[in-house]
Amino acid sequence: MANLILILGDQLANDISALEGADPNCDTLVMAEVHEEASYTNHHKKKLVLLFSAMRHFAKRLEQDGWQIHYQHYHPDNQHQSLEGVVSSLLEDLRPDKIITTECGEWRLHEQISQWQERLGVPVEIRADTRFIASKHEFADWAEGRKQLRMEFFYREMRRKTGLLMNPDGKPEGGNWNFDADNRRKWTGKPPAPAPFRIEPDAITREVIDLVEQHFPDHFGVTEGFHFAVTPEDAQEALNYFIEFALPCFGDYQDAMSDTEDWLFHSILSPYINCGLLDPLAVCEAAARAWYAGQAPINAVEGFIRQILGWREFVRGIYWLHMPGYAQENRLGNTRALPWFYWTGETKMRCMHKAIDATRRNAYAHHIQRLMVTGNFALLAGITPDEICDWYLAVYADAYDWVELPNVLGMVMHADGGYLGSKPYAASGKYIQRMSDHCANCHYKVSKSTEPDACPFNSLYWHFIDRHRADFEGNPRMGMMYRNWDKQKPEKREALLKRADYLLKHIEEL
Ligand code: FAD
Ligand code: SF4
Repeated sequence: MANLILILGDQLANDISALEGADPNCDTLVMAEVHEEASYTNHHKKKLVLLFSAMRHFAKRLEQDGWQIHYQHYHPDNQHQSLEGVVSSLLEDLRPDKIITTECGEWRLHEQISQWQERLGVPVEIRADTRFIASKHEFADWAEGRKQLRMEFFYREMRRKTGLLMNPDGKPEGGNWNFDADNRRKWTGKPPAPAPFRIEPDAITREVIDLVEQHFPDHFGVTEGFHFAVTPEDAQEALNYFIEFALPCFGDYQDAMSDTEDWLFHSILSPYINCGLLDPLAVCEAAARAWYAGQAPINAVEGFIRQILGWREFVRGIYWLHMPGYAQENRLGNTRALPWFYWTGETKMRCMHKAIDATRRNAYAHHIQRLMVTGNFALLAGITPDEICDWYLAVYADAYDWVELPNVLGMVMHADGGYLGSKPYAASGKYIQRMSDHCANCHYKVSKSTEPDACPFNSLYWHFIDRHRADFEGNPRMGMMYRNWDKQKPEKREALLKRADYLLKHIEEL
């Protein structure tokens, strides 16, 4: 029995289900850097380097372990530009009994692979991706019959299922499920944030950097300063570094933003977890051990685990429950095009400039920058969901459709009508001022709302509230905003709306 086993670029784990029961003596593995996958969006150059280099390291290791592997290196003139092309060409040579693969993370590719059996005339076995803590079926069972899904309740199920941070009586450690109220401190420079964990590019990575520079020159971002891990061992070092140096402060400053520090106390582990170099459950267990060992406080450890065990699993569940229709949702009826400054960072809004510039340099911005700066602006300005989703999918090293889409379309843009989040994360400049030091360095004045130098977020916030009255007035969590809006003098309301209309008309000049 000889099988052809396909391993995708985000399945770089030795225990990936496609390899279960495989036999190096007769099965052949296939991995391919193909044009279709590298260019279906304007992927950040650092993301391409990370994935191609991590794939090459993974394949090399498999070869050393005695596997037969067919590996296609990227070249624009390759005969086969798609995974289907590569696989079908091998069928003629190898005549395998079947193709085996682990289910992929994107609806687009999943649809293609699901048709291979019929199109290629060979059995195709698609196995579940066991790296996730909740299977698709488990999530669907949990969601069944619920009108709105709330991450918090799903998260508690996952805590019970895994036993993470649960005491022997079945109660949450520390006495609470959630310590978020402790996780909203502004960061003023102390304690100093650790430098990001860096791995110097080896010969393989340097070769890939040259390749990306040569063949993807117009893609977003830069390759300079590439420092991501590309092997499981180095990714494990990155996890150890995070646990030792950043986790203790992760909770306190989880929502903070800084004008001078790109990474603060975040883990920078999502690129590795998402492509298979780190296992999500093992990451959570390492954080829990740090709490039991007294190395990090409960608000930090619980907050960190909730992001992976809760949010990450939750958004994946929603994606598979509602695709492909989810991607078409636009319940707020947005029509505005994405401003060009999202691609250049050239805007006088300091917070936006800082978030986009960090994204361009690092293929990374932390959660609050994504949610409350670039996301918040897109929500307030009414950007069409597909344009802002495309942007997020392109610019981050950790971006894959299954995780990007629910975060952007659901959490940020509220385009799913509140299925994922009970209220939109809309905020004025005051929130950004409270959580960062950007405003002190900004061309605009956060204390002003209607003047020519007033912070754009302020009037755009009220414009959003006003234009979506029918959508949100009945939402109990939004009632206060409408009361505040209605309390303002009519002249003030008019001036705010006028200023916002002006800004929207001149959005490219902000
Ligand atoms: P940390 O802050 O250290 O968090 C720890 C881990 O928790 C992350 O590594 C990640 O695995 C997980 N996590 C945290 N929040 C989320 C979340 N909301 N959804 C899923 N996992 C989460 N994450 C992606 O992995 N890929 C994306 O394409 C992506 N797009 C996003 C777009 C928007 C608009 C928003 C608001 C969030 C998005 N996120 C995405 C979630 C989150 O911002 C990133 O996972 C996080 O910033 C990654 O950095 P980190 O590893 O330093 O995270
Ligand atoms: Fe951002 Fe407004 Fe503050 Fe400027 S003043 S940094 S635009 S919130």
